[in-house]
Amino acid sequence: MRYDDSPPQPESASSISPDRPWYARRSTLVVAAAALAPTCLAGWMVSQALSGSGSGPEQPRTLPVTASHASSPGADAKARTGAPGSASPTTTATTATGSPAAPSGPAGTPAPAKGPLAGRTVVIDPGHNTNNFQHTTEINRKVDIGTTRKECDTTGTTTASGYKEAEFSLDVSRRMKAILEARGVKVVLTHEGERAFGPCIDERARIGNAAVADAVVSVHADGTSAGNRGYHVILPARVKGGAADTAAIVAPSRELGEKIGANFARTTGSGPANYLGSGTGLVVRDDLGGLNLSTRPKVFVECGNMRDAKDAERLTSPEWRQKAAQGIADGIVGFLGG
Ligand code: ZN
Repeated sequence: MRYDDSPPQPESASSISPDRPWYARRSTLVVAAAALAPTCLAGWMVSQALSGSGSGPEQPRTLPVTASHASSPGADAKARTGAPGSASPTTTATTATGSPAAPSGPAGTPAPAKGPLAGRTVVIDPGHNTNNFQHTTEINRKVDIGTTRKECDTTGTTTASGYKEAEFSLDVSRRMKAILEARGVKVVLTHEGERAFGPCIDERARIGNAAVADAVVSVHADGTSAGNRGYHVILPARVKGGAADTAAIVAPSRELGEKIGANFARTTGSGPANYLGSGTGLVVRDDLGGLNLSTRPKVFVECGNMRDAKDAERLTSPEWRQKAAQGIADGIVGFLGG
């Protein structure tokens, strides 16, 4: 069944050539990701019942509890396509492998990291919270996101076998933290699953703002129809209203998102989403509180579709999650000039 109340727009679907199967496009993925032309289509997920185990992806039981960082109904109309030609021709896959290893201390222990990334701050936001499923009343409380009011937080999705998006996002976030800290970056996670629920999306944004983060990345996996595959990076639209004013972060966030997308494709072998973004792996949205309220460069990364069996096979693999973390971290490092 569908998880999106806002089905993919025709132009997105038409961008996928039916005679070019998913796997056949892999060899061009990095190139495709580097030739970024922004577009947008709001994803729309409905939270999944944990008891979906045993039911196939076509017939999961759904709970109309809350949407996962998804737009409100009708948000497709608000979703926008970025300006053509705004893609940076200099966007390239940035690899960390060419960097020299950290010097060893006198006892063979790693010396404190130095270099261009020392003193830089990155906030990683693990999407959702595994405990949100038990606190639906609390997370459904509306909070002010400047442009409108929206649910405090959402449950996120799960794979057909019950692996929670919130588990995935926290695991990848922790792996990213280790990678970035080894490069000398100060890393702050918005939560580590220690809370009863949340944090709320406005607080998630405030944590990045308060840290004066050089980059903020919210880690997610999507929950849409089986057959929809691939990653996409969500970029903030230009919005202004209440506490929301993204004018200063739109451009740097796009640069951050382009670098993350290119590196994610390189390290994971995944392609850009085949169901939105017209094959660019980039989507611009104006309805996410976590982006609208951010004053720091920020993107969301949707690493794959948990409701697709092939994507789920990747998302549930610790080895693949390490590759995903490496790709996102490499993109951040590239953005920071490391
Ligand atoms: Zn999510």
